[in-house]
Amino acid sequence: MKYETLLPRFLGYVKENTRSDEYSNSVPSTQNQVVFLQKLVAELEQLGLAEVKYNKVNGYVTATIPATTTKDVPVIGFISHVDTADFNSENINPQIVENYDGQSVINLGESEFKLDPSSFPSLKKYAGQTLITTDGTTLLGADDKAGVAEIMTLAEYLIVRPEIEHGKIRVAFGPDEEIGTGADKFDVADFGADFAYTVDGGPVGQLEFETFSAIGLKVDIQGTNVHPSEAKGKMVSAIQLAIDFHNSLPAAERAETTEGREGFFHLLNLNGTAEDAHMDYIIRDFERAGLNRRRQLVLDIAKEINQKFAEPRIKTTMVEQYFNMVEVMKDHMDVVELAENAMCALGIEPDEEPVRGGTDGSKISFMGLPTPNLFAGGENMHGRYEYVALQSMEKAVDVLLKISELNTNK
Ligand SMILES: [Zn+2]
Repeated sequence: MKYETLLPRFLGYVKENTRSDEYSNSVPSTQNQVVFLQKLVAELEQLGLAEVKYNKVNGYVTATIPATTTKDVPVIGFISHVDTADFNSENINPQIVENYDGQSVINLGESEFKLDPSSFPSLKKYAGQTLITTDGTTLLGADDKAGVAEIMTLAEYLIVRPEIEHGKIRVAFGPDEEIGTGADKFDVADFGADFAYTVDGGPVGQLEFETFSAIGLKVDIQGTNVHPSEAKGKMVSAIQLAIDFHNSLPAAERAETTEGREGFFHLLNLNGTAEDAHMDYIIRDFERAGLNRRRQLVLDIAKEINQKFAEPRIKTTMVEQYFNMVEVMKDHMDVVELAENAMCALGIEPDEEPVRGGTDGSKISFMGLPTPNLFAGGENMHGRYEYVALQSMEKAVDVLLKISELNTNK
């Protein structure tokens, strides 16, 4: 095997419960992540990296693979996240399927759940490979323990081979990507890289430098509750206004009616009574103009409804969450090209679909550090059907090494 420590390292990582918690106010959001991050500190120190540090303010562990060249080489950063998505992550029990034949149904442990190529055609790509799956009761956490294991394996590979010439490389492992807050306090100046990559994408070849731009919308509605028997002309039902508001948004612009480069309004949550109601939406678009058009539409609909009453009933609050990183990356396409060249040199075809979501790199890029996203290898993220091929993780390490090599020998 090419990277002997990669699989045992990954299996060790996924067994640790590092689920994040969107209702927590602490950083990291869960103590389990702190425990895991501190184990990463110990591992980095034991491997011999320099400047190993856990930053309590932002929850990031950072470290340095020192340069082995005297050339003046830009500093590369590699970043991944330690938390896992909102799905059972107690007692994760990874299953290994060696030499998968590309067509059989895989039983997930003793559970009733199965990975069936007729439901998950991506399985067919992995004939002859080693798959790591769940036992059907939890997620796997390849998102993003695969990324953590790949970066750690790269670090070990380079540290024990000082004869390989490379510039300074910075690594970072952070919390809370899955709840969208992890990168908020990332310290770009302290990290000190010239450019970086998150290693947090899906299947082999993914290279992402374009993401949604994002607004979070809260709608608060105040009704006037009157007994229904004498409500005529007096009751203002908040929950009815919520329904009216929602139905005024274009049906063709919902998450379930859009794809590709189309944006949407997505209702996350609605609760209410006649007395009051509350809705949470996410608004997404690849273009600022599209995002602004949707923002204006929200204001116009609320205004139109409010005009029917003596005092305003609907209050909208919109918060910008992140922006399409291409606005930054367009001036740093050499960073994307370096990753493209590394993949092509390894016979991997880059897959550059825009992400219908955000990445930690969306925020970090706007903080001044251009940070596209590289594949980490996982499939079916965020649930019991998640799996990853060992060979995909090996290819990810190959790409990180090749990026370093091409960055050194320009
Ligand atoms: Zn992820």
